[in-house]
Amino acid sequence: MKQLFLWVVFLMVCSGIAQENFKIYYQETADGFLVVADNKEYAPVSAELNLKIANLTSSQGDKKIFVIPAQSKAYPITELTVIDRKKPIKFGFATTYNFGDHELKTYDQDYAYNLPFGTGETFWLTQGYNGSISHANEYALDFKMPIGTKIYAAREGIVVDVEESFSKRCTDQSCAKYNNYITIYHPDGTFAEYTHIKKGGAKVEVGDAISKGQFIGYSGDVGWATGPHLHFIVYTQQIKSMKTIPTKFRIGEGKEAVQLQEKEQYTRAY
Ligand SMILES: [Zn+2]
Repeated sequence: MKQLFLWVVFLMVCSGIAQENFKIYYQETADGFLVVADNKEYAPVSAELNLKIANLTSSQGDKKIFVIPAQSKAYPITELTVIDRKKPIKFGFATTYNFGDHELKTYDQDYAYNLPFGTGETFWLTQGYNGSISHANEYALDFKMPIGTKIYAAREGIVVDVEESFSKRCTDQSCAKYNNYITIYHPDGTFAEYTHIKKGGAKVEVGDAISKGQFIGYSGDVGWATGPHLHFIVYTQQIKSMKTIPTKFRIGEGKEAVQLQEKEQYTRAY
């Protein structure tokens, strides 16, 4: 029998991950413990694990950040081995976690995104990268479009988060918490968010595999917005911060993919 004094386990969540979808726990082994994680999400989850141990050594040394693959069960994080079996053991940990691969260094910078609306349709880009209304220091795009415009995936991936329950809208940041959105995880580790969709306007669910150009939902005027539009971002996600990234779009047959410019109108021509 091991003498185990379990220290308090803190759980700190800083993401939209539901508590039942991710957990870190331990299993007893012949030599000590194996710390493992369950990740029911459809994207990798990165976790920072701060161990508090006495009379145990960790097979991962001082390593603190771990990336747990999507849809994994009892994924091994670190083995803790008892140093002296005659002495009491102390063991506790605190975790912080979020969607995404915290260690992602590269992604496809040349990917040619589709415009996120229907073929033959034309919309104004009312705010572009670093736009002065609400996009300071952000690579975000606002396409002005009437409520109920069909939105099509700019890139293939898997739906990892959907919020479509809100209807409130106001023009200041206090309404950001009412944003409705669809989040899609891309094969290169980046995410796209399609924001301000109408209440009940998502036509996809978490876990759906999405092809490029697939209809995903209806635009709206919900959350932090000054009028009906689609706010579109692509980003990389670290445990405590997200970073929006610039992307290129294919805007016409045979044309090279380009970054979109504020106050231009764009037609999806193919
Ligand atoms: Zn915006």
